[in-house]
Amino acid sequence: KIMNTHLREAAKEFMVRYGGDTFPSLFRSAKGSIVIDDTGREILDFTSGQMCATIGHNHPAIVQAVHEAGEKAYHMFSGMIPEVVAELAETMAKDWMPKGLSKSIFINTGSESNEVAMRMAKMFTDGYEILAVGGSWHGVTGGASAASFASDRKGYGVHVPGVFVMPEPNLYRPYIQGLDGEASALACLEMGLKMYDMASTGRRAAIIVEPIISAGGVLVPPKSYMKALREAADERNMLLIFDEAQTAFGRIGHRHAADFFGVTPDIMSVSKTMGGGLPLAGVATTPQIEESIHSKGFTFYTSHVSDPLPATVGLAVLRTIQEEHLIERAQTMGAYLRRRLEELQSRYEAIGDVRGEGMLLGVELVKSRDSREPFHALGALTTQRCYEMGLSMNIRRRPERGSVWRIAPPLTTTQSEIDRGVDILDEALRVSLD
Ligand code: PMP
Repeated sequence: KIMNTHLREAAKEFMVRYGGDTFPSLFRSAKGSIVIDDTGREILDFTSGQMCATIGHNHPAIVQAVHEAGEKAYHMFSGMIPEVVAELAETMAKDWMPKGLSKSIFINTGSESNEVAMRMAKMFTDGYEILAVGGSWHGVTGGASAASFASDRKGYGVHVPGVFVMPEPNLYRPYIQGLDGEASALACLEMGLKMYDMASTGRRAAIIVEPIISAGGVLVPPKSYMKALREAADERNMLLIFDEAQTAFGRIGHRHAADFFGVTPDIMSVSKTMGGGLPLAGVATTPQIEESIHSKGFTFYTSHVSDPLPATVGLAVLRTIQEEHLIERAQTMGAYLRRRLEELQSRYEAIGDVRGEGMLLGVELVKSRDSREPFHALGALTTQRCYEMGLSMNIRRRPERGSVWRIAPPLTTTQSEIDRGVDILDEALRVSLD
């Protein structure tokens, strides 16, 4: 439990500061729904460690898989496919992906998986234009960031051309005044498509969407929206890409958002939740698309394509989700957490909205329910207080929109841990508003 102050100094002196939300302490380890800092303090994790720890931190199945893969300690020339990667591809096709998306490739990060998905679409269609849905977050690499919300793109020069972004489907803050959320979302789509069609050169490739917009404020579009997006892609001979970095593998109480919406994309990218904390991502598509792009010379030959270590862990994660019935648990525990948050909403005027699906929930903070004016200061202050009181919370702040807590504990979190976390949040809110 002895704190190594030297390392705190080393972090300050020798590390590039890569994000706004870095913490004063360093971290030593994690277990289940708890992370432990460099003083030995235990912090309850309502963020699932950047949404990766679906089955909890350091689950025995992950430890065993790392050990197993580490013993073999092999990393191949990229063209040599390890046995375990073939097994993962089979498991994905048979148990996890929507029917038809039976061909997969495995890489490392969510950004990378979206680059792969867009490359596939470009090669298949011989086009290059990408139409994205506003508010979505697809990653930091060139193509992925061009399709993501703009605030993180400033300062890095010209972004990839040929990417068009439509207004987001936001039910709580409809873009079009006078319309309700669903009507506004559909009208935004219609308008977005019209504008895109006017600007298009005809070299169309894909529509990409994060089907539940998570980092952009936990926005669940209406089902009619996703169906309309599917039709829009078909009418334009574009492929539909679902970025299911966060929504696949049980988080929302379904296998993935494609099941939830009843809409099947042509390409699905998955990442975070699959590796349980290790860098594993995948992209699945149909045999027809795979055949076509293969014949045109598709490549994605990186150092860590088909890497056996994360693949071994991925298989263990998928097995654990099934064995521990975590999809069902996302529904039951998610419903319980939601009821507790709604109870807070009944007591705090500042909680304007509680929304989400399964264990991916959003709580939006407002100065008043009538004005819906964002309450950024309350979000920042309360998040800080929660942390001091032993609860890690992720606040999503988009200046022009709102401050939203994304509340997404590991699916293995116990009911008493949920209660403890919500009680801390309650107390932190009470003190902040005093
Ligand atoms: N897509 C979505 C929906 C994400 O949430 C993220 C990560 N926040 C990414 C893509 C990018 O993944 P990575 O950070 O692993 O590159």
